Amino acid sequence: MSGPSVDWHARAASVPVDGRMVIDGVRRSAQTSETFACISPIDGRPIGEVARGRAADVDAAVQSARRAFDDGRWAHMAPAVRKRILQRFAEKILAAREELALLETLDMGKPIQYSLSVDVPAAARCIQWYGEAIDKVYDEIAPTARSALALITREPMGVIGAIVPWNYPMIMAAWKLGPALATGNSVVLKPSEKSPLTALRLAELAIKAGLPPGVFNVVPGLGAEAGEALALHMEVDAIGFTGSTRTGRRMLEYASRSNLKRVYNELGGKSAFIVFDDFADLPRAARTAAGSMFFNQGESCNAPSRVLVHERVADEFVRLVGAEVPKYLPADPLEAGTELGAIVDEVQMRTVLGYIEAGTAEGARLVAGGRQARADSGGCYVEPTVFDGVDNGMRIAREEIFGPVMSVIRFKTEAEAIALANSSNYGLQASVWSHQIDRAHRVARALRAGTVHVNQYDEDDITVPFGGYKQSGNGRDKSLHALDKYTELKTTWLRID
Ligand code: NAD
Repeated sequence: MSGPSVDWHARAASVPVDGRMVIDGVRRSAQTSETFACISPIDGRPIGEVARGRAADVDAAVQSARRAFDDGRWAHMAPAVRKRILQRFAEKILAAREELALLETLDMGKPIQYSLSVDVPAAARCIQWYGEAIDKVYDEIAPTARSALALITREPMGVIGAIVPWNYPMIMAAWKLGPALATGNSVVLKPSEKSPLTALRLAELAIKAGLPPGVFNVVPGLGAEAGEALALHMEVDAIGFTGSTRTGRRMLEYASRSNLKRVYNELGGKSAFIVFDDFADLPRAARTAAGSMFFNQGESCNAPSRVLVHERVADEFVRLVGAEVPKYLPADPLEAGTELGAIVDEVQMRTVLGYIEAGTAEGARLVAGGRQARADSGGCYVEPTVFDGVDNGMRIAREEIFGPVMSVIRFKTEAEAIALANSSNYGLQASVWSHQIDRAHRVARALRAGTVHVNQYDEDDITVPFGGYKQSGNGRDKSLHALDKYTELKTTWLRID
């Protein structure tokens, strides 16, 4: 375990960075030898050069995955054997905890304390959980007439393309890898060009754990190059995508233009956090709203970015949230106590600041924050920002900002709160704060969201499905339900005389 005394700056200066792809179990440069620079949003330092995979590299990775699948080197192993290898993979992730956490923090700017305490353990737990589950999942026999036997079995799909974002790079990769590998598929992972480093290390650790070569390949590269080539590839059977709704739309187009591969989209959110005036512990609600909104710099798909508050308690709530803000002032992500780190890059920082300008221009009242911070660090930082008096029709209430910006919207009645919460293209998560049990259930039922929290927001576990209604996506990550995404159901009829 690392104590608070670890000098992460010193470690960062010497952490090894290998940006080459992993194909067929070995490190390779891109076929064109091109690379792109990996720049840390912490202070603008260059971290390393990463292979810029293009269609030819993606093709090599897919062919490798296809060979590995077709010869059964992984798919035909007994589930109990796959389980042991996945367990070893998870152990190796934990053993490399400090290195992986440091790479994640350098690459995308989140505080090192959370890379260590959240990202690495959650990724390891996901791989371990699916490994443990897979020799306990049974197939079915249909209740047919006595003259027949109908077996309903799950089979792996084949080659899975996993395309993931930069906000939780390891966790998002693990949510695809866990169920896809446990069920016997081969995977080609395309990490975000903004955070490719940990994915490459994960592949090395998996191979060291005994995963046969070719079963897990990683091709870093740009979305419009490597990502598009993977999603259009005729030998890819399914795409497990997490990212923006804009890109998710393209995934469906790519599938329709190629082989109608299955597309599972985990997309954006604009989650509503509804505080009723009967909820007595307003400070707890305010603390939770701020903590969940500003965690990971607000770069969370499920961030409660629309906080709906009953007008009777709204002034007090806004005051309490405002009092939370100083806890989240941006600081150096490599310092142990930092709560809010750097925004992933300059482009995203400008996007967030642009939304803040739009909020002010549309008439919302800026209560806290609103500016760029720590500019002299050379990094990308934005103050935690709270708007009051937001109208649900404003851009800051309709569009996903993906930065530390909270919008407070006032309501008068329960029906209005439900209507406002559901008046969104998204439907990822929501939260209801009420001590009235009938109201809590009634509102939870009425909300069109994949997850509804009651009187809390942060509860989460690998055992529950995660995903959205409406334009937040289809399919679910996590839990045994995710096994459905990466398996085909086969019916086999036998005649019994
Ligand atoms: P993004 O859509 O820009 O990129 C996601 C991935 O898609 C990256 O690997 C990128 O390289 C690739 N990509 C981009 N353009 C592509 C194209 N034309 N063809 C193929 N691939 C392409 O998203 P982002 O900015 O990296 O991530 C933030 C988004 O992810 C937010 O919208 C957030 O809500 C969402 N997200 C959703 C969940 C969830 O579970 N629902 C979880 C985390 C993040």
